[in-house]
Amino acid sequence: MQTVEWLDLCFAAPEQWEISRHAVSRDKGSLVFVDRRSERLRVYWTACGGRPDGQLLLDGCRERDRQEHPDARFGQLPPAGEWRGYRWQDAGRSVTRAGLYDQRHDRWVEMVLTWPGSVEVELERAVLGSFRSANLPDGAHRYRAFGIDLTAPAAWVLEHAQVLPADLTMRFRSPRGRAQVRRVKMVRELRAGGLDGLVRRELGTATAVVEPATYRGHEARRATGRERAFTWRWVTAGLRRRTQLLWVCPQRDWMYSVATESRRRDPVAPETFTVRCCGTEAA
Ligand SMILES: [Zn+2]
Repeated sequence: MQTVEWLDLCFAAPEQWEISRHAVSRDKGSLVFVDRRSERLRVYWTACGGRPDGQLLLDGCRERDRQEHPDARFGQLPPAGEWRGYRWQDAGRSVTRAGLYDQRHDRWVEMVLTWPGSVEVELERAVLGSFRSANLPDGAHRYRAFGIDLTAPAAWVLEHAQVLPADLTMRFRSPRGRAQVRRVKMVRELRAGGLDGLVRRELGTATAVVEPATYRGHEARRATGRERAFTWRWVTAGLRRRTQLLWVCPQRDWMYSVATESRRRDPVAPETFTVRCCGTEAA
């Protein structure tokens, strides 16, 4: 099983289930997991403004499912912790819909599990039972998905996540500035110039002071300079200091980069973010 942590939702899912769609809004969104053949799991969340009538919400969903699948057989989900819900089954598959109120973050959470054939009861129990509403000290947020494991301090909000097969980019913002965390598969083309070549490539035409550094025991480079492009928006935001920490983790041969843009008087170090590129660390 893999542990997935996203916008303070934390749960386990089989390794082979991959996220095919994601959202970055804490107020409303979903994560969709697929295996090689079809969709397996959908996790939905919606901000509430107080504890909702969960039964009413689930009854509404059940009614919709009944209309869409008139030949399906419906049944209750056996009690599973705080989860309440129902199952339906037709000729080809079984579907479980379960919902709970995440009091800590005041949102309604639903999991929809799709099983080819009949329900794998043990696995379903494991997935539902693994769910918890994450709560790190000082309100920090941990993100474990798409092969990255990082912690962002409380004030830093995930703004965008772009997921390509060998290239993941996550952008954050806070009142102190902006940050971008990237993880890129090392290919021959990137390897040729070593770390300094990677830094030059990342900086493009920007000028910066490049210094040797280390991160989690890895040789790294720190580039500090002015913003890349002088546009009015950046000037008014005052985010004129750009710092980038870059390293290669040999374990899975990824290049990592954490870049921050902040005010000169209130610099944000890339180490504000914790990126666990290798090794193990308890939740
Ligand atoms: Zn590493």
